[in-house]
Amino acid sequence: MKIVTILGARPQFIKASVVTAAIAAVKNMTEVVVHTGQHFDANMSDVFFDELGMPPPQYQLDIHGGGHGEMTGRMLMGIEKVLLGEQPDVVLVYGDTNSTLAGALAAAKLKIPVAHVEAGLRSFNMEMPEEINRILTDRISHWLFTPTEMAARHLRREGFQEERIISVGDVMFDVALHHGARARSAGGLLANLGLKPASYVLATIHRAENTDHPQRLNIIVDALERTSNFMPVVWPLHPRTRAILQRSGRLKDSPRDLHLIDPVSYLGMVQLEKYASVIATDSGGVQKEAFFYQVPCVTLRDETEWVELIDAGWNRLASPKDAMSLAAVIQEAAGSKGSEVSPYGTGKAAHAIVARLESTVLA
Ligand code: UDP
Repeated sequence: MKIVTILGARPQFIKASVVTAAIAAVKNMTEVVVHTGQHFDANMSDVFFDELGMPPPQYQLDIHGGGHGEMTGRMLMGIEKVLLGEQPDVVLVYGDTNSTLAGALAAAKLKIPVAHVEAGLRSFNMEMPEEINRILTDRISHWLFTPTEMAARHLRREGFQEERIISVGDVMFDVALHHGARARSAGGLLANLGLKPASYVLATIHRAENTDHPQRLNIIVDALERTSNFMPVVWPLHPRTRAILQRSGRLKDSPRDLHLIDPVSYLGMVQLEKYASVIATDSGGVQKEAFFYQVPCVTLRDETEWVELIDAGWNRLASPKDAMSLAAVIQEAAGSKGSEVSPYGTGKAAHAIVARLESTVLA
């Protein structure tokens, strides 16, 4: 059985690390990895292959930039060519990026069954490019591997057949258990930045709904600047966010305790997460990692797909509408705890995904 896996963005390299390892452990399965090129900087791509022990992708399509339509269209062409040559039994896609949609669509048109990891997530905000990508990908996927009970419920409500909805848990939890444990317990990045455990705020921002709206982005920067007056803030800047802030001149004269740094590796990020007093983010993965390490989170968005953590009190939504109240929510959340829950499975999602593909395709 041959699987072609389509990857393109940072969270996909991280999620794939555990599934790729599970595939490699099965005798009759081979995996061919296609990297679309959506994320291409060494610290947004190569570092994850190295650190998480993944072989380099067999195909590098080197497609990035341009509008969403242009990028997705070029990926569709490139992936179709690979699939025609490789003739796989399954195409495996992750999450909700343009690479996800291009991979699923290229496969579906060639009548190759698609497996979607992280199926069923919904924000119910069709303004988000991610929401469009995930809904369309689910619609044309054969196996819908859901990370949470809520994701499975969304798919049922949308009329998907029960046998196609496979509740496996969240592969990010597998990664946290398998690789996260290797993160340094102290020193390293923390020491270099002069940060002490449990006495700083970790921030990440990359979503278009924040970066592409100057007013919202300004409010976020103002809020983090204010926050740095009461606790140091460390903010690994996504390259897109850095470029936008640089263009608008917002990177000049930032306060001393607002540490703007380059993106860090997965293990570096886990270290920053584990010892933060609170995490302020618009990232999906980081919201869950905050919970895995029992750190409170403030999500700088209007809604979240990971509603279980809001219900459990580990996460709170704070729409970037005004800097003062945003800073107040972050300050209030620092050091708080939620209730004991385990909504993301048992850390065996990767194995369950591979076992299901093995049993249906090889049957
Ligand atoms: N991450 C990382 N280095 C960073 C920022 C994030 O390794 O500088 C990791 C983070 O730990 C998580 C993943 O990237 O595992 C989340 O990716 P991202 O926020 O880009 O996307 P999303 O999860 O929102 O799809």
